[in-house]
Amino acid sequence: MAKVFAIANQKGGVAKTTTCINLAASLVATRRRVLLIDLDPQGNATTGSGVDKLSLEHSVYDVLTGDCSLVEAMQFSEHGGYQLLPANRDLTAAEVVLLNMPAKEHRLREALAPIRENYDYVLIDCPPSLSMLTVNALAAADGVIIPMQCEYYALEGLSDLVSSIQRISQALNPNLQIEGLLRTMYDPRIGLTHDVSDQLKAHFGDKLYETVIPRNVRLAEAPSHGMPALVYDKQSKGAQAYLALAGELSRRQRRAARSDTKA
Ligand code: ADP
Ligand code: MG
Repeated sequence: MAKVFAIANQKGGVAKTTTCINLAASLVATRRRVLLIDLDPQGNATTGSGVDKLSLEHSVYDVLTGDCSLVEAMQFSEHGGYQLLPANRDLTAAEVVLLNMPAKEHRLREALAPIRENYDYVLIDCPPSLSMLTVNALAAADGVIIPMQCEYYALEGLSDLVSSIQRISQALNPNLQIEGLLRTMYDPRIGLTHDVSDQLKAHFGDKLYETVIPRNVRLAEAPSHGMPALVYDKQSKGAQAYLALAGELSRRQRRAARSDTKA
């Protein structure tokens, strides 16, 4: 049964999409079956997976509105090795259309239910907002992975996200947890980086991933070739960091499974 993780932060440009693509490819490299869901109308995860967002026959929008099944809209990312549920500009309309639909917060969860057992991981790339699309992602997820840059304002935005997660877990999805916080575009030469890291550790304890993603130009270049960094330049620091993250994530899952069987 797949673990479903929403990659969310209402701030733009914190590496949500970069994390989705590269974590998905890294999990595939460790023989996991992965589905990546692009839930951002910008469609960056779609393009970065090597799929043309302008010529989609079906997209995640049709799945949310019930016009096709998830399997019908899915495409294979050749370089990434994972299945992709693509998105494009059409998704902008979902915000309004969903408001008039029954069980509007649970559309994605319901679409996922029949295929969850075919995957080990489902990653959902959220838009930079706490909109109805993000609510659908959080209602469908077991955990939230929060990518963030170690800047002063990052901490401020984080409290809004954490209270949204708490609200949604009370109202819609009692299973929802913060899976982990990921430091992205990490630059240890900047003094503030260490202060923010210390504060994150104090606040979130072992939810903070030990793996950090360094600033690395290969991670920025790879999407324009429609590939993860692992294929574009396997030896790059960025590709290796995301491989390490996949390892840390799997170790956490195994540890959690062991303590579940003991309890
Ligand atoms: P989001 O999805 O949160 O808006 P993106 O993943 O699109 O963020 O990343 C924002 C920009 O930063 C993109 O141009 C991306 O290529 C670049 N980027 C992301 N992570 C890194 C990194 N570790 N090093 C260098 N550039 C990065
Ligand atoms: Mg994005």
